[in-house]
Amino acid sequence: MEKEKKKFYIRTFGCQMNFHDSEKISGVLSENGFSEVQDGDRDKADIIIFNTCSIREKAEQKFFSELGRLKRLKRQRPGLKIAVAGCVAQQMGRELLRRAPFVDCIAGPQNIHSLGHSIGRILLEREAQPGGLDNGGPGPDIDVNIGENPGLASMELPAARKKKPGAWVSIMYGCDNFCTYCIVPFTRGREVCRPAGSILDEMRRLAEDGFREVTLLGQNVNSYRSPAGDTGFPGLLEMADRVGGIKRIRFVTSHPRDLSEGLIEAVGGLEKLCEHIHLPLQSGSDAVLARMNRRYILADYMDKIDRLRGRLPGISITTDIIAGFPGETEEDHRATMAALRRIEFDGIFAFKYSARPGTPASKFPGRLPAEVSAGRLEEILALQDEITLRKNMALEGSIEEVMVEGPDEKNKNCLSGRTRTNKIVNFSADPSMVLSAGDTVALKIIRGRRHSLEGELPAP
Ligand code: SF4
Repeated sequence: MEKEKKKFYIRTFGCQMNFHDSEKISGVLSENGFSEVQDGDRDKADIIIFNTCSIREKAEQKFFSELGRLKRLKRQRPGLKIAVAGCVAQQMGRELLRRAPFVDCIAGPQNIHSLGHSIGRILLEREAQPGGLDNGGPGPDIDVNIGENPGLASMELPAARKKKPGAWVSIMYGCDNFCTYCIVPFTRGREVCRPAGSILDEMRRLAEDGFREVTLLGQNVNSYRSPAGDTGFPGLLEMADRVGGIKRIRFVTSHPRDLSEGLIEAVGGLEKLCEHIHLPLQSGSDAVLARMNRRYILADYMDKIDRLRGRLPGISITTDIIAGFPGETEEDHRATMAALRRIEFDGIFAFKYSARPGTPASKFPGRLPAEVSAGRLEEILALQDEITLRKNMALEGSIEEVMVEGPDEKNKNCLSGRTRTNKIVNFSADPSMVLSAGDTVALKIIRGRRHSLEGELPAP
């Protein structure tokens, strides 16, 4: 009788990088004879894996409260194993095991390639049966895989991607920018770039597997340079644009300082490169930008925006904003509000400043009362909501190329997709048209809403 496959469940917090890392963890385990269970079956899993985020305190607290709830389940099921991956694992290391001694192994983002091995070992130990995952012999009692590991191992793992048409492809790990509020350089390490050939090979495989859109991932993709030193980011995009079968290419995240003329030309000229860029501004105040160590001033940023819009008038631009950075004055906040009115982003991700352990800003004087930061965040979000709605309504009557992603989550009689400018469009499916994920269709925008558009097939 065939031995029942071990079941694993992954709970992911945080950014696209983390969700893509979870696809890799799932890929490695699935290739080694494990089967993944989804939310409803979490408690049936043999091993529960948390892939954690520590970009803000809230994400970390959410993880610990969920982990705490597993303590009772583990008492009921002593054989259950728990693994913690991601940025909290890297940031806390053995401290995490002291805080949660019922955790069986941990692995930082640069070591997810060793997680498969650790999981195999602890589950085998539980069963005391050889075989299955290569257990690599007796290891320390609790696997703590958190060393700096600037290798490519974690970048070139097989990924179990669940949904078409879009796929994430890592092009680099880590970050060298050391913005004073950011924990990423401490949890994901220094920048390591993947060879261009390996990235293009993965894109070709994805095209063969029916994926039609690729998002190139990195903390700061603009500073990509192939290990051989012969290819920068614009060069990589040109080669990616020639990969057959892929219809659309996106990339995230960019640092304004490294937004080159070559990249602006690429965004404006390459057929498959979508007309959207995510360009974190963080603050509209030069004084705050300096204390954030962002190494640009608002005027530099505005110049990049003007050049992008000059080269590509319809480009969609989104950004990140931090409200309440230590020492931020009312005047600084006003400068951010003025920048939002002047730039008119298509969308923003805005958060209150959150002090992260080990980051320089966590020791800066002038921490603001929580209600002040919350009030400023509210003002920022309210202003941006108005701008986004007005910009989406301005698209009414226009014809947009939409890539179908699948059924509209809120209305099963409708389909949902995305414009090249990364806006969600919901539209009623015309039974005469057999549309599936990855197909593109020209739609007339009939309504602009706060966070999406409504479309219909243009009259013949
Ligand atoms: S660019 Fe700055 S904010 Fe972005 S990941 Fe790097 S250090 Fe963090």
